[in-house]
Order: sequence, then C-alpha cells, then structure tokens
Amino acid sequence: NLLIPKEVRDACILLARHRKQSFVVGGGMRDLILGMPPQDWDLATDARPREVERIFKACGYRVVPTGVKYGTVTVKKNGLPLEITTFRVEACYRDHRRPSRVNFVSEIEDDLGRRDFTINALAYDPLRSFFCDPYQGIPDLIKEQIRAVRDPEERFSEDPLRMLRAVRIAAELGFSIEDKTMHAMIRNAELLGKISAERIRDELNRLLMAPHFHQGLENLLEACLLFVIIPELKEGWLFNQYHPSHQYPVLPHTLEAMRYTPANLEVRLAILLHDVAKPRCYSRGEDGRGHFYGHNVVGAEMAEEILRRLHYSNQVINNVVMLVREHMLELKMGPAGMRRLIARIGRGMVPALLSVRLADILAHSRSQVVRSLEEYEKFSKNLEQVMATGDAFVMRELAVNGSDIIQETGVPPGPLVGKILQHLWEEVLDDPKKNNRDYLLALAKRMINTPG
Ligand code: ATP
Ligand code: MG
Repeated sequence: NLLIPKEVRDACILLARHRKQSFVVGGGMRDLILGMPPQDWDLATDARPREVERIFKACGYRVVPTGVKYGTVTVKKNGLPLEITTFRVEACYRDHRRPSRVNFVSEIEDDLGRRDFTINALAYDPLRSFFCDPYQGIPDLIKEQIRAVRDPEERFSEDPLRMLRAVRIAAELGFSIEDKTMHAMIRNAELLGKISAERIRDELNRLLMAPHFHQGLENLLEACLLFVIIPELKEGWLFNQYHPSHQYPVLPHTLEAMRYTPANLEVRLAILLHDVAKPRCYSRGEDGRGHFYGHNVVGAEMAEEILRRLHYSNQVINNVVMLVREHMLELKMGPAGMRRLIARIGRGMVPALLSVRLADILAHSRSQVVRSLEEYEKFSKNLEQVMATGDAFVMRELAVNGSDIIQETGVPPGPLVGKILQHLWEEVLDDPKKNNRDYLLALAKRMINTPG
C-alpha cells in the first residue's frame, strides 16, 4: 500500500479517462519503496507528448514541454510538478554519447528495458495497485544491490555515464554493486573519458555529498573510474611515504582522511586533492626518511588544473585551491599570525580550513594523532577568540580609508595612497590596538615626511 501523492494519482486518473496507460517510474518509485521521500515524480505513459500536452492543458495544468524530442512534458497544477514521459526506447548511440534519437513504443516493458539499473526499472500502476518489474528490481532493492538491466557490458558501452551513476546511486542508498555489473565497469572504465566534463562533475558532486560517499570512493577506485576522472591521483596509489606521521601510502591516506570530512563539497574536494602533488615533491634522506618539498604549493596548481578540466565554477576552484595551499596550516602560530591567516583566506573560509586540517590530522599515524589533536584544539580555540574580536581582517575595516589619507595628509590620489593603506593595515594586523583614526593618520603623516 504505497503512499502515492494525490497529484500523481490525479494525473494517472486523467490519463486513464483518455484511455491512456500510466505508471509511476524511476527514482521516485524506488525511493518510495525504500521509505525515503522521493525527490521528484516521473510518470511513463503510452500517450504521445503532444497528447499529454493537450490533455493536461485542457484541465487547467501548466504544461512545459521540457524535452518533447525525448518525449518529456512537465505538468503542474497546484502542488508537485510531474515529469511525464512517453514510453520510448533509445534509437541509436553514436560514439558512446546520449542517443541522438528516440523511438516511442506502446509497451511499458520495452520502456523499462532501456533504463540503467533494475531498481530504476520498476513501474507501478497506482490505479490498479500493480507492479511491473520484468527485471527483478524489487528483489534487488531487498538485496540492496545495483545491477544493470540486461547486459551490463552493452549498457555501459552505450552510455558510459551509467558507470558513474551506479557508484553515485549506490553511495546515496548505501547499496553494493552486483559482481557482473562491477566487472563490466572495470572493463569499460576508460570509456568514461568520452563523457562531457559537466556531466561527470555533476555526478561526482552528488557522490561526494552522498551519505555513503566513502564507500562510493572505494567503488570508484575498484571500478578503475577514479583514475579516469583524476589521473593525477594514480601517482599516489601505493606511494610509500617512509615517514613516521604516516601509516598509509599517499592515496590511501587521502581516502582515510575523507572519512573525517563534514558534508561540505569544497572541503571534500580539497581533501581529495590535498596530497595530489606529494609524489612529485618527494625525496628520501640518508636516514631513509621521506621528505616533502612544497607539495601544498604544487598541489594547489595541480588542483586548479584538475578542477578547471572538470568545469568547476571559479568560486569552487578558488576556495578549493586555497584549502589545498593552506592545508599544512601551522598550529603553533600566535595571534598576529592568526590575524594574517584570517586576512589571507577570509573569515568565511576559516571553518572549512579547520575541517581540512582536522581531517588530515585524524588520518595520521596513531602515535601522532593525540599530540596533533591537542595542538589543534588549542589552536582552534585561540583562533575562535581572535575571530570574535572586532579586529580589522579586511582593509576596509581599517579606521581610516583612502579619502581620509588624501584629505588629512595632502597626498595626491594615486598608487601611493594604496601603499600607505597597506602599510597601516600591516601595523594593525600585528597590533589591533593601533586601529584608531588619530594614531593611523599620524603614522601616515610620518610616512610621507620620511624620505624614501
Ligand atoms: P535522482 O532523481 O535521485 O537523480 P533518478 O533515478 O530518478 O534519481 P533521473 O536522472 O531523475 O534519476 O532519471 C530518471 C530515470 O531515468 C532513472 O530512474 C532511470 O530509470 C532513467 N535513467 C536516467 N539516466 C539514465 C541513463 N543514463 N541510462 C538509462 N536510464 C537512465
Ligand atoms: Mg529522478
């Protein structure tokens, strides 16, 4: 007895009045059976898109032809929007990309056969309380597994994005990936290279934010997909660090650190990439110990290149690159260093940087963790206190601005004003008590009257 919302049932009744079949399909159906709130509602029908438009318009629905070419119409009256798609099969896949054409069909079974996974290939007729499950999706839901519909090799070669969807959906639901499906992924992993960066990025984001994202990363690795998406990470796989802080090679350390990240996309991307340059910035001393030189700086450059390639927004790129560059944050710094840090990264990014630092610490060797944690606790408490003051962490919080300088000291507008402000700000970062107008103006006058 499934709780199908009234809007969905009403739409099915309306189609039935026109002698059209309709089924609840896709992720919504799957989530409902699992007892999770569906994110969206998809209906499949044998009515053609134009008929769907006509039938729903005549009943006062708002109708948007979202993808008439692919048979999809979105309808909405008061409540939920519904996506209604005509039964279809994909006509031909060229070059492993999205089908260039679809053919409409009259049987729901044929429509279900073109879907990716058995748990997504279920249909439910709410008017007759009847399940159509030709690919045994319900048993797979009970077994909590992702299994490709029909031949996995063929399905992944038709559309390689399905491999990433398999891992993402498994990470969202906490499901495993059935063996044959996994083997087909391993064999076809390279084909993911044919898929556009945007589509990969969107799936990767959902995977990284999924409740079981850590298992998702393990699956990406097992399926050989991780190194297709970010080949640079391969260098760290089994890269032994010969360092007492590290019980793991570079990439396994990264994956361990991922466990300790909060659900924040930028933090997770930063941890994923924080040691990407380590293998390139490495040497071993006479004592056999590993040393790393500037892997945070080189890593920031590599992170930028990787994220640009995946078409991330400038904002995400800037923040993640900063987090990678700053990830080795010195925990013993004093208040002046802390003010400079806040000024450099911006108040808003402080929690993210702390999360990155903490996740990295927690993945270090047991012997290191206790000591580092003590340092971290002290550091973050002190940093919080510094943050809580009204000190100037951005130049515009200085007690004087450019026009004050021009009016009070008589310097003409120009680059010298900026130089003076920068100097005043440095003084204030060292000692916030100096952030008062009289003191700063006097200092500015002294600067101008000092030769050089
Ligand atoms: P969610 O909405 O949570 O992303 P979903 O399974 O509903 O999950 P959609 O992208 O909304 O995913 O797709 C709706 C349905 O269309 C899926 O359940 C699946 O049956 C089918 N589908 C989506 N993408 C593909 C694909 N690449 N290959 C085959 N079938 C697909
Ligand atoms: Mg959906």
